[in-house]
Amino acid sequence: LGVEDRNLEDALFAFKLGEVASYVKPFGSGHINDTYAVYLGDGAGTLSYVIQRINTEVFKKPQEVMENIFGVTEYLRARILARGGDADRETLNYIKTKTGAPYFEDADGGPWRCYNYIPDSVCIESVRTPKDFYNSGKSFGAFLRELENYPAETLHETIEKFHDTRKRLRDFETALERDVWDRARTCKPETAFVQAHARDCAVLMDLLEQGRLPLRVTHNDTKLNNILFDKDTGEGLCVIDLDTIMPGLALNDYGDSIRFGASTAREDEPDLEKVHFDLELFEAYTKGYLETAGSALTDMEKEYLPWGAKMMTLECGIRFLTDYLQGDTYFKVTHSTHNLERARTQFKLVSEMEAHWEEMGAIVKKYSMTEGKENHAH
Ligand code: ADP
Ligand code: MG
Ligand code: MG
Repeated sequence: LGVEDRNLEDALFAFKLGEVASYVKPFGSGHINDTYAVYLGDGAGTLSYVIQRINTEVFKKPQEVMENIFGVTEYLRARILARGGDADRETLNYIKTKTGAPYFEDADGGPWRCYNYIPDSVCIESVRTPKDFYNSGKSFGAFLRELENYPAETLHETIEKFHDTRKRLRDFETALERDVWDRARTCKPETAFVQAHARDCAVLMDLLEQGRLPLRVTHNDTKLNNILFDKDTGEGLCVIDLDTIMPGLALNDYGDSIRFGASTAREDEPDLEKVHFDLELFEAYTKGYLETAGSALTDMEKEYLPWGAKMMTLECGIRFLTDYLQGDTYFKVTHSTHNLERARTQFKLVSEMEAHWEEMGAIVKKYSMTEGKENHAH
């Protein structure tokens, strides 16, 4: 096999690939997990499986991560088969070990998992045209609708309080009070911005707790490059990168897509003149998302889609500002004001969303073609 890593070799055998693999090599550009491509068959072989060592610094409970992934992908597979679809291409299929476990633990305790490679697919790294963003909305909308009746409350919360915006606000306030790096005096306008939005931070969480917004299966990394498109048709094929599947609000997945996808600039663009919330891109995603998710969403969810966009952007800005106050311990920085600049881009986007609030609502309404559902808190 030409594999030097004993643990990798053990993992291949654990997934019954040791005997059949012709070739194994590092795969992809991810910097979270260690990923390898497994080729089967003669000659150069055919890329058939992906085998990965899970990063336990990030994912402290691999068992729970894998239970979430197996629960959701097996559910998807059954639905795709039931409608005569191609279940090997329309969802990831994780395979179990020889002993029937969802992952293999190597001699050093490293957790390995394995899934099918999806052939003839393309991955788009960043939005080139509104059409790309529209397609991405369609894929994530379809993902939500497919999982509409999945019991979201049975999923593990693998990263605790991930989108608890109230807690994010409290963490910010604590960092501000302590001000261990004496930076509070350098971010007064940004601090004032957060304080002026303090009440917003509870809006969505309150609605969830009151049972007015349903708990959903959420993906929590709804980037364009986490969708595979069919090489020939260009249609969205499959949502990938399922490590952060958790119970949560549909609005958060939608909002996070808008946050980074409907901006005219990078998240850390220092020149705020270049940073704008782009309504055309907002419309493209919203159209795609509602075309596919539409009938699964409640009226309340639809009404609050603009809130999802605003809150995810605000929350992200608060996290950047908190990290700035705490001395840049979480996000990687290249200079001391990096996190402050990031916070500024997010707050600029929030302000522009607020300035276009009516238009955002009108766009959502325009594409809410089907009647929303009555709320059905699971
Ligand atoms: P990360 O968490 O590092 O983003 P991903 O699961 O998104 O990891 O995988 C990284 C990239 O590898 C994807 O963006 C895609 O280009 C490619 N990839 C991942 N899984 C598959 C697959 N099953 N079939 C084809 N390509 C894949
Ligand atoms: Mg990814
Ligand atoms: Mg990932």
